[in-house]
This record gives sequence, structure tokens and C-alpha cells, in this order.
Amino acid sequence: MKYIYIKAMNARQERVVKLLDEIYPQARIALKYKSPWQLLVAVVLSAQCTDNIVNKVTENLFHKYKTLDDYFNADIGVFENDIRQTGFYRNKAKNILKAANLVKTKYKGLVPDNMKDILSLPGVARKTANVVLGNAYNVEDGIACDTHVIRISQRLGLVNINKVGGRKKIMFNKNNQNIIDFIKDADPIKIENQLMEVLPRNIWFKITYQIIDHGRNICKARNPKCNQCQLNDFCPSSRI
Ligand code: SF4
Repeated sequence: MKYIYIKAMNARQERVVKLLDEIYPQARIALKYKSPWQLLVAVVLSAQCTDNIVNKVTENLFHKYKTLDDYFNADIGVFENDIRQTGFYRNKAKNILKAANLVKTKYKGLVPDNMKDILSLPGVARKTANVVLGNAYNVEDGIACDTHVIRISQRLGLVNINKVGGRKKIMFNKNNQNIIDFIKDADPIKIENQLMEVLPRNIWFKITYQIIDHGRNICKARNPKCNQCQLNDFCPSSRI
């Protein structure tokens, strides 16, 4: 792995990054898709919803809506019903169908492959943009800060917890001391910017999925399994 720093990681952070790479060498996106457009739809649907439910919904959705025109011509009420299971379906339906319109009329039927244009699509903020650009086009222009990345980058001290914004401090007790575990409503943009400063650009894409896998398997929000965690010796938030 070749490191290209803006601000060098300290030795502990380097060890954490190396271990994540060793533990989760095959980490990848869990959403199923066959085109950049399908990926965009799946990522929009994944907000506040598990990837498993999204994959179940898109299995039928992608069968029913085969082309971009099928979305362009869709009836919003019917479409809402088709994605209802993913939650926040009214907003998601509105954004997806408006995005289909824009992709067809402004971008010649192709999901944009650059940050500026993809951010112009309704319902697409930096997290969605990073996921789509990285997976569909191999464009690493940032780090997708989902709930796992927000939590674990703080716990692992990859970002400075005093500079991530937010107010909802989640605490835990260790040796009769109350310690800030992470800030739940931290600003994803501040976290992304700090991660982009400290992590080498060539691992931005891969480490996103390594952190997500770690969050799903071990470093869970409520009860992190610190006694099973291979990062334990290097984690400032370890509970053991
Ligand atoms: S030691 Fe605990 S808090 Fe730290 S990364 Fe592992 S599971 Fe998460």
C-alpha cells in the first residue's frame, strides 16, 4: 500500500489502517445493481434503511423498471408503493423520479461521473455521490460518511472528536470515568474533510467499506464487541 499524505497519520492511526486492510481485504458494497443508474437508485433507497431490505425491494423494482425511461414515465403514486418498504418513500420517490428526469434531459441518459454534476441530482449529497462515483466509475473524490464511518472514525481516533460538530454525545463508563464514545449527530462533511486530510487518497474508497464491515460485525453502535476486536490494542475508545 502506497501512502500519499496531506497530513501524516500518527503511528497508531497507521496501525489501525493497516489492520483494517488485513482484516477486511474483500470489503465491498453490499447493494446489488447492474448499472450506474441502478446503483444511484439503490443508494438513495438505502437512506435510513438496511442494505438487505433495499436489495429485496430493488430485486422487484429493477425487474419492473428496466430502463431510465421506465422511471421517467413512472406514476409517482405507483412508484411510492413500489419502494414503500424502504421508508421515507414519498421523499425518495420524488427524488428518484426527478433525478431520472434530469439524467435523461440534461445528462443524455447517463449518470454523471464527476462530483459537481452528480451533486446537482435531487436527493444526492456527498455520501451518495461518493458511493456512486467510486463503485460505478472508480472515481475517488471523497469518502462516503455513512453512520458507521461517522461513528467508527471517531472511536478509532482517525478524526479529532472536538472538531466534528454535533451535540449528541454518546458516553460510556470505563474505570469509573465517563468517556465520550462518539458524537451521534456529528457533521459528515467535517468528518469527511478530516479523513481526506489524514488518509492517503488511494485508500479512500476501500477503507470506507472496511470501516462499514467493521461497524456491522464488531464495532456496533450500542454494544461494540471490544473483547473480540482485533483493533482493540490501538483503539482509544476500547471498553476493555
Ligand atoms: S476496540 Fe471497541 S470501540 Fe474500538 S474499534 Fe474495536 S469494537 Fe470499536
